[in-house]
Amino acid sequence: MARYIGPVCRLCRREGEKLFLKGEKCAKNSCPVSKRPTAPGQHGTSRKKLSGYGQMLREKQKTKRIYGVLESQFRKYFDIAANTPGITGENLLRQLELRLDNVVYRMGLGRSRTEARQVVRHNLVTVNGKRVNIPSYQVKVGDVIQVREKSRGMDRFKDILAVTDRRAVPEWLNSDYAELKGVINAVPTRAQITTDVRETLIVEFYSNK
Ligand code: SF4
Repeated sequence: MARYIGPVCRLCRREGEKLFLKGEKCAKNSCPVSKRPTAPGQHGTSRKKLSGYGQMLREKQKTKRIYGVLESQFRKYFDIAANTPGITGENLLRQLELRLDNVVYRMGLGRSRTEARQVVRHNLVTVNGKRVNIPSYQVKVGDVIQVREKSRGMDRFKDILAVTDRRAVPEWLNSDYAELKGVINAVPTRAQITTDVRETLIVEFYSNK
């Protein structure tokens, strides 16, 4: 399964804002975006005003980077969103939110989406009692996501929860820290998706191609 393996802080610097890709480090003063808010590379300090196309492109890239999705899969999400009744941009964000790795992150079982993805890949999570190790797996309303019984005592989760138990859990998800369990209680509405993206620009980007 393809994924980006380059330096992640570079991605934030490219977008000119914190994308919170590294967990604890993102809240510290050592965050490179806080220390050096310029784009990477030789010409990084001479940031030009973006054209309309540039703004659309950057919003798409930013969203992909936040959720850790590569272009081909992101494009598939867009095509599904465009062919689903409702507002395309919201349909797109909803699919990203309902990825299993994102849900595990929202439950507080990963300090970053990258860590949540590892938790899934390492076979530590069940959906409705069955092991699922596919980060892109789409969960549905009523699904129960839980850390496998024999993995619940792992120090790994104690360390993660020590950082994430103060994080707000979205209304569409019930999270039980004691049981390392979450239940999807509704399809997320746009207002409940807190990711700071302008999805209309992404829709325009693909519509103009
Ligand atoms: Fe982005 Fe976090 Fe790195 Fe800061 S520390 S640049 S927010 S990934």
